[in-house]
Amino acid sequence: LSTRAASVLDKLDIDYNGEVAGVYDGQWKGSGDIMTSVCPSTGEVLARIRTASPENVQEAIAKSREAYKTLRNVPAPRRGEILRQIREALASKREALGDLVSLEMGKIKTEGSGEVQEFVDICDYAVGLSRMLNGRIVPSERPGHTIYEVPNPLGVVGVLSAFNFPVAVYGWNFSLSFAAGNATIWKPSPSTPLCSIAVTRIIAKVLEANSIDGAAASLVTGGKDVGVAVVDSPKIELISFTGSESVGRVVGQAVAGRFGKTILELGGNNACIIMDDADLDMAIPAVFFGAVGTAGQRCTSTRRLYLQRGIADKVIERLVKLYASVKPNDPLIHSTLVGPLHTQAAVQTYNDTIDHLRSIGAEIFTGANIVAQETGGNFVAPTLARPKTVNTQDKIWATEAFVPILNVGVFDELDEAIKWNNEVPQGLSSSLWTRDLRNVGKWIGPNGSDAGIVNVNVGTSGAEIGAAFGGNKSTGWGRESGGDAWKQYVRWSACTVNYSDAAPLAQGVNFAA
Ligand code: NAD
Repeated sequence: LSTRAASVLDKLDIDYNGEVAGVYDGQWKGSGDIMTSVCPSTGEVLARIRTASPENVQEAIAKSREAYKTLRNVPAPRRGEILRQIREALASKREALGDLVSLEMGKIKTEGSGEVQEFVDICDYAVGLSRMLNGRIVPSERPGHTIYEVPNPLGVVGVLSAFNFPVAVYGWNFSLSFAAGNATIWKPSPSTPLCSIAVTRIIAKVLEANSIDGAAASLVTGGKDVGVAVVDSPKIELISFTGSESVGRVVGQAVAGRFGKTILELGGNNACIIMDDADLDMAIPAVFFGAVGTAGQRCTSTRRLYLQRGIADKVIERLVKLYASVKPNDPLIHSTLVGPLHTQAAVQTYNDTIDHLRSIGAEIFTGANIVAQETGGNFVAPTLARPKTVNTQDKIWATEAFVPILNVGVFDELDEAIKWNNEVPQGLSSSLWTRDLRNVGKWIGPNGSDAGIVNVNVGTSGAEIGAAFGGNKSTGWGRESGGDAWKQYVRWSACTVNYSDAAPLAQGVNFAA
């Protein structure tokens, strides 16, 4: 192993010479296949992980159910206190974990640490939530009766996560779910097992120190089969799935088939619209970050850029200059803005998308090549292109290519750009740049963007934890993190309680014999 990789893994006590146990259900184990973690910047094997066998998965689910039965009786504020300790433990490892995210996923260091910070932030939120899991009291039409809506713990929550946020997505789910009194079982992406193992070790230590069964935060690493076993289990009430539309479709149908609950956070295909009156000094850096940041591998990455005719040429010219300033490089080097793509398969997607752009006669302003590195690695040049037309039926506009390619279209009226924004199957994030209040009103109202995230003078990429995060249409309608998202992690009991000496029926129904 390179000294640099070894030093990152050493800081988190990950054994890169032997086999790393990839299953936790109160005890560390793993008797399934060996899986390797590969560094996308160099191609080197970081560690060998013993994944979950089918028996390991079933055992972890059973143990999580047992852990839930205990956890549901721990008072919510006490669960909050444990979350506070988890928050502290994560914060103390922020830099080491951030390094690991960069090493294993490939995003740059500041974004790797930022992702850990997101977990810390949502822990803070969940600590507060643990004292505000409020139900409601509803007036009854019957004298001496009261109706309560009571949020009770739900059960076991299965969290299936994508490679691109190997820490934060689990954090959003685990924190709210734990505050609500549930056990979670995590099936991370098969290409980021070390991040999940490092996070689970931190959580497990805190749980054990508080005499809470570790299976309240179980981990089962592995591939598709492990995911299927979790999704199909009738012992798991809620499946929170983050990943591609194609897998999300299968998962959604499988869980619906057994009447389970789902939260689906699927692909985005996010547009940014810049009006003639926009402040370009603000808009252009936001587009640059949205399209190029994380090498285009965020669900909220900017993939479509709609420019009003008056500023179109100027914006393209300035973006081309910015694109020329980035050199894809090792994500752990401080000055790097763009790291590698996560896998070789993503490089293939990049090549295929460029080929398609050429086949439809698109103008390619910059990019469209693989960037050679001494170290190897999956480096590609961020690309800016303008297809001849905005034909939203064409896959260049209608599908999410999870690579740093930004497609430009030019419009005259805002209505046209909103139509293009909405015409694609996905509906995650969207952004309008304007100084005209009338445009803002249209954009955020009933005739505006149909995405879950509808920003104004803020880019598509990156969100705070306070608002509910998620998208509509083929993005899956899921909401996580802030807002009312916590309400999905409980089972609501509608309780009509009669304190009187009579038992009248509702709606005045008379059923006297
Ligand atoms: P993916 O769909 O390939 O994998 C996601 C998870 O599903 C992995 O853990 C995988 O092992 C598992 N899986 C695969 N087949 C399965 C099956 N049949 N049953 C159960 N589980 C199965 O996604 P990815 O490539 O890791 O992630 C990239 C995608 O995730 C992009 O589309 C991106 O937009 C999306 N994403 C969405 C959000 C959001 O909040 N909307 C956030 C991050 C990523």
